[in-house]
Amino acid sequence: MGSNIKIDVRKERLQNKNSEDEFRDSIATVDEAGKRLWIYPKKPSGKFHRWRIVVTIILLSLLFGGPFIKINNQPLLLLNVLERKFIIFGQTFWPQDFVLLAVTLIAFFVFVILFTVVFGRVWCGWLCPQTLFMEMVFRKIEYWIEGDAAAQRRLSKEKWNAEKIFKKTSKQTIFILISILIAHTAMAYLIGVERTFAIVRKPPSENIAGFIGLVSFTGIFYGLFAKFREQACIAVCPYGRLQGVLLGKNSIVVAYDWIRGEPRGHLKKDQPVAGLGDCIDCHLCVHVCPTGIDIRNGTQMECVNCTACIDACDDVMVKIGKPKGLIRYASINSITNGVLKLITPRVIGYTFVLLAVVGILGFALITRSDVETTVLKVPGTLYQREPGIITNLYNVEFVNKTFNEMNLEIKVEAPSFAKIYRVDGKGIVIPAEGMVKGIFFIKIPEEKVLMARTVVTLGVYQNGKQLETVNAKFIGPVKKASDAKRD
Ligand code: SF4
Ligand code: SF4
Repeated sequence: MGSNIKIDVRKERLQNKNSEDEFRDSIATVDEAGKRLWIYPKKPSGKFHRWRIVVTIILLSLLFGGPFIKINNQPLLLLNVLERKFIIFGQTFWPQDFVLLAVTLIAFFVFVILFTVVFGRVWCGWLCPQTLFMEMVFRKIEYWIEGDAAAQRRLSKEKWNAEKIFKKTSKQTIFILISILIAHTAMAYLIGVERTFAIVRKPPSENIAGFIGLVSFTGIFYGLFAKFREQACIAVCPYGRLQGVLLGKNSIVVAYDWIRGEPRGHLKKDQPVAGLGDCIDCHLCVHVCPTGIDIRNGTQMECVNCTACIDACDDVMVKIGKPKGLIRYASINSITNGVLKLITPRVIGYTFVLLAVVGILGFALITRSDVETTVLKVPGTLYQREPGIITNLYNVEFVNKTFNEMNLEIKVEAPSFAKIYRVDGKGIVIPAEGMVKGIFFIKIPEEKVLMARTVVTLGVYQNGKQLETVNAKFIGPVKKASDAKRD
């Protein structure tokens, strides 16, 4: 009897498939006229939420403390895009390290892809600063001041009165203050904590660019968390957009167990109805969702895997005496077949690519020199001929990638008959994180110049230790065949 009801309901749902899939034609946060629908998610609570609070405290402490952490007196992380200077874990990367940065980024992207293929959007729910600030900071302040979803909805509909003015003003003031704090932290990651403090200490008129930067950042963060909110994940974030191609049937996501839950139906006199699944259609999972979706429709791009629906549904299951986990971390295949398969050919393929890129990165880092030397022939010159000697003129540029002054020496490694002469004859002193340009000659006895182009290898030394080698192209006269034979 019970199974007949199940089959009938499934048939009916199949016939109504078109209407069931209608949720794919629109998003929950925009009405038919294209107007924004404001989401009032119910306050989340439960095991996952408590763990997310712990993770948030750790991550936000690291985020705000990050600019103050120093390694070798250098910031842990500095992303100075304007001056194209990046410090990662105390290690400086210059524009000359472009290849290294590119490989690092490729490794990062492959890692993100691999991680997403296996574990879905764990990043979005647990680690992304947008979700952490939105759900665990700004939303919590909203609950604290305005109450839970129903109270917020009521307050918004009310005419302006003393209570509404007080609550809305207090909330927005705190939002602005937190946005100012985030803006200063972002600035510290861009230009360093000392320069950020310098901007703050001076009147705006003395550092107008820094002041405009801080005000703009504050405006952006306030707009993002007070107004734009979940739209950042739904409509803007490229990572969110990529979910459609990254997730597979074996990816672990926050998922509704439709095998167990369907056909859904309300309790009768607070008792489960025979023949129906475990979902009692209470809509609590929908009410807590910060992106306004119904997870029972399946994996959707709007789902940031915040786990609020897991907690809400577990609570319901406990109350009706059913096992927890109707909504849980699961893959589609694990729900369908009961088998959780993490290692798939796709995962193996991405793992190999990641290992290869990390290998290249490791090699590049190990062989990375503290100094970057560029040697180029002075434009417009070929060679000069002195009695018995051919001379070439070069421009040289040294970039010191370290935080200490460097005293360098440049010598010819090969061929042994080539000699180098610095034009100014001085030692090469390069300030910390600085650059020095110079001019030098390479001279080779004419009888040794057998080809139009000779490669001269130069070694750059500090305190007798070779830091790197660099090749210089030496141009000489083209010898006639008879001359070459005679030589
Ligand atoms: S919270 Fe659970 S029981 Fe309630 S509607 Fe959602 S899936 Fe069904
Ligand atoms: S569906 Fe669940 S996990 Fe996904 S965003 Fe909504 S509440 Fe969070």
